[in-house]
Amino acid sequence: MLYLDHAASTPLRPEARAAMVPFVGERFGNPSGVHATAQQAKNAIEAAREQIAASIGAASPLEIVFTGGGTESDNLAVVGAALPTRGGIVATAVEHAAVLESARFAERLGMAVSILSVDRLGRVTPAAVAAHVDSGTAIVSVMMANNETGVLQPVAEITQAVRAVSDRVLVHTDAVQAFASLPVEVYDGGPDLISVSAHKIGGPQGVGFLFVRDGIDLEPVIHGGGQELGRRSGTHNVAAIVGLGAAVEATVADRDSYRSNVAAARDRFEQDLRLRIDIENTAGTAERLVSHSHLRFPGIAAETLLVRLDLAGLAAAAGAACHSGAIQSSHVLTAMGIDPVAASESIRFSFGRGDDASTGVAAADTVAGVVEALT
Ligand code: PLP
Repeated sequence: MLYLDHAASTPLRPEARAAMVPFVGERFGNPSGVHATAQQAKNAIEAAREQIAASIGAASPLEIVFTGGGTESDNLAVVGAALPTRGGIVATAVEHAAVLESARFAERLGMAVSILSVDRLGRVTPAAVAAHVDSGTAIVSVMMANNETGVLQPVAEITQAVRAVSDRVLVHTDAVQAFASLPVEVYDGGPDLISVSAHKIGGPQGVGFLFVRDGIDLEPVIHGGGQELGRRSGTHNVAAIVGLGAAVEATVADRDSYRSNVAAARDRFEQDLRLRIDIENTAGTAERLVSHSHLRFPGIAAETLLVRLDLAGLAAAAGAACHSGAIQSSHVLTAMGIDPVAASESIRFSFGRGDDASTGVAAADTVAGVVEALT
């Protein structure tokens, strides 16, 4: 099996699994209690919080809020930042649905929303973002890297440009796809809110965190018993949080080798494919994640190709895997100005941990063979 859908979900890392095992067994306590069994769970959560804070250079572990995944982190950032001041939201048209739908929700509550258009490669410029910011803006949300194309946004420069307009505007970045291969570091003057999801980096599904810079007042989106200092109620998923902590630490520790191996896999894949069949790279010359390869196969329906690839033992994705089921022209490709026919002929291949140049060779051989049989 050639699994090239790591951007959708990547296997659990052994470090995460090992850390989780006791907490799906004898260490079952609810961390909100006072007795020893509860405290064992509480200590495990706080250790994970410290592990994560240290891994991203956060000043305090209290800046880490555990959530039910990337989607919830994005909701908490966007809605949570806009509600206290009822200020406006600025986001790019290629953000994940978790950001865009959160913005739409806030809009229904009466907040102003600006969705920024992107260029042909899916990027925004710092100047274009700054032009949409004013003193009434509560939050700007720009992803580090796009989940479909892997294309990077100049988040540091955008943050600087936004601050030059108003230092009261919060900047959020969705680092869900980027975290596996790019340094995600907290720094003075950098983004105030950062979303990360465990299952894209070798942790379990259904857990993530939001970095919230000290002093930022977020309105919670989940209400209840006041866990996470009132920022996210609900009994903690201890096993998942412990797995997330281990996955974050291990990811940061071997990011450099991950990056070079995955780049070798992806680059060899594209290089070998080009020698055999006609492909168009959606990301063009844009800077992108080493893991992603978003390709158009002119004249071949993505749906047909995906099914044939699956039969040949290769897993890939079309559209955004997060809303998989029916394949429809994705909002990302539409925002990039890619016509529906080209979009319907495009597939995302995403490489991950354990892959190297030999994966690229095998994947190119399988894909080229299937495409040749279809043409
Ligand atoms: N943001 C981005 C960029 C993503 O790629 C995804 C998932 O694909 C999410 C957010 C949502 O994360 P989760 O699946 O943990 O809810």
